[in-house]
Amino acid sequence: MRKRVYIAYTGGTIGMQRTRDVYQPAPGSLQAQMAEMPELRHDSMPAYTIHEYTPLLDSSNMTPREWVKIARDVEANYDRYDGFVVLHGTDTMAYTASALPFLLSGLRKPVIITGSQIPLCEIRNDARENLITSLMLASSYAIPEVCLYFGGKLLRGCRATKVSADGFAAFDSPNFPPLGNVGIDIEVHWDLVRKSRGGKLGVQELNSPVVSALRLFPGISPELVRNVLRPPLQGLVLEAYGVGNGPDQNADFIAALADATQRGVVIVDCTQCLEGTVDLAEYAAGSALAQAGVISGYDMTAEAALAKLYYLFSRGFAPERVKKEMQRDLRGEMTVRA
Ligand code: ASP
Repeated sequence: MRKRVYIAYTGGTIGMQRTRDVYQPAPGSLQAQMAEMPELRHDSMPAYTIHEYTPLLDSSNMTPREWVKIARDVEANYDRYDGFVVLHGTDTMAYTASALPFLLSGLRKPVIITGSQIPLCEIRNDARENLITSLMLASSYAIPEVCLYFGGKLLRGCRATKVSADGFAAFDSPNFPPLGNVGIDIEVHWDLVRKSRGGKLGVQELNSPVVSALRLFPGISPELVRNVLRPPLQGLVLEAYGVGNGPDQNADFIAALADATQRGVVIVDCTQCLEGTVDLAEYAAGSALAQAGVISGYDMTAEAALAKLYYLFSRGFAPERVKKEMQRDLRGEMTVRA
């Protein structure tokens, strides 16, 4: 029996066409090209159904509403397919890949998010390999996780980040090894793959909590920080320097953070660095933030921290509970500390 894969085609470069000198989503065109690919009909390939979203989006236009739409789509087709491929633009792919593991609980089948830097319609492209390998991964490897496959690397979704605007190796998960590497062979590192927790698939709705992200920069004004932290803000990912440091000698800046945390705003400190973990105890410039009530995001990506805030507030948790859960590993997004 051929395996069956459901493809949720949300948009992105992979299916775009060049019109008037810019790339744009083109309804129907990806399916037409796939129908012309003999390799997709090979015995080793799964049967697939492709569901094109309306409208097809450049992923720069994605919002949490689309994350829920994808999760609901997986849920609606869950029993009829062996695995799922989500075709997505690369620009916000890491955000969607970070959010879906939180939205989908009890996942027992692979959900592989992919896309490409060059559309399938171009002679030289990375779309063909990303598409074919993702279909193979989704059908023949029982990985009970949301993953991002791109340029030879199979990454845990909630660890992934976009690292290149124009290279084929566009994604990485610097704080967690790839779940798989694809070269001559497809190698899945099963020891790193999370075990299925069993149970029934569930989807968490998102009810528009007010969360935000702010990247520190030299000269950032306390007024700007206060403005960002104004009600009705509930949670903030603070992208700080190095191991989580900020300008502790700027009393107004620290006071702006402290005032907000006292009002119940959850401020999560993530590092601007690609690799490594936040440690607010290492420098005075970090411990001042901790004293102001900022919590550590440890080695979570900013994408995962933002998605997790959306998820936890949508579950209706009070700030204290959100803080507690932000510092626990829920889906493999954070390295558990000894
Ligand atoms: N702007 C495109 C998108 O994110 C880029 C891509 O898919 O590579 O939809």
